Amino acid sequence: KRDDVDVEQLEQAVEQLDPKNATYTNFTDLPLSEPTKLGLKAAHFAVMTDIQARAIPLALKGHDILGAAKTGSGKTLAFIVPVLENLYRLQHVGMDAGLGALIISPTRELAIQIFDVLRKIGKHGHMFAAGLIIGGKSLEAERQALSRMNILVGTPGRILQHLSQTVAFNVDDLKMLVLDEADRILDMGFQRDVDAIIEYLPKERQTLLFSATQSKKLSDLARLSLQEPEYVSVHAED
Ligand code: ADP
Ligand code: MG
Repeated sequence: KRDDVDVEQLEQAVEQLDPKNATYTNFTDLPLSEPTKLGLKAAHFAVMTDIQARAIPLALKGHDILGAAKTGSGKTLAFIVPVLENLYRLQHVGMDAGLGALIISPTRELAIQIFDVLRKIGKHGHMFAAGLIIGGKSLEAERQALSRMNILVGTPGRILQHLSQTVAFNVDDLKMLVLDEADRILDMGFQRDVDAIIEYLPKERQTLLFSATQSKKLSDLARLSLQEPEYVSVHAED
């Protein structure tokens, strides 16, 4: 169990954070937990990219976000850091906490990349259990791990398969949903799967949606999944 004083101080610092009026440059300018600070430092992440500097403060404060920025702009950390921090402050970790965050990615390869970043940043004192659900292993093997996980990264079809077939997969206490590369999720024909997944999730949750491009279909998905979102759009300058 975390030191409650730590969490309380962090909570107050996040409350005081003003995402509209302040300009944050470095990760160390933000109220982040020691484990996350250590993880970012060990991975040599110091200066935030534009999308990170604008999205992370809003996400720390619990807003829903529609974030658009081109490929390579650092969107992964823009949601990994808030996922780690928001679950940390809620102390939503450990065997009995259940699933706190679900991260949906269009492909197995991207899901694995996200999982690797999560592990790299999260391995310095965080206590969450995280898993991948991307198929490839037997449904039964994935199934046994599911009930213990606090953070899951997966592809739409496989996540939906578990939601409909795995009794022990309980998402009732989910706090955060991330839709990464949402434009590609739609391009690959996963709209119906994602709609169906969202049906299973608690309405009261935070949702972060990231995309490299914007489109009509994307705004439809945003309307379905986000509540009063903050729009964070970083335009390419080249
Ligand atoms: P996107 O999802 O927007 O395409 P990624 O999250 O995959 O971008 O990041 C692209 C690359 O930039 C990765 O190699 C990542 O390690 C690196 N990167 C991300 N954030 C930072 C940062 N704040 N400082 C330095 N490099 C970063
Ligand atoms: Mg990405």
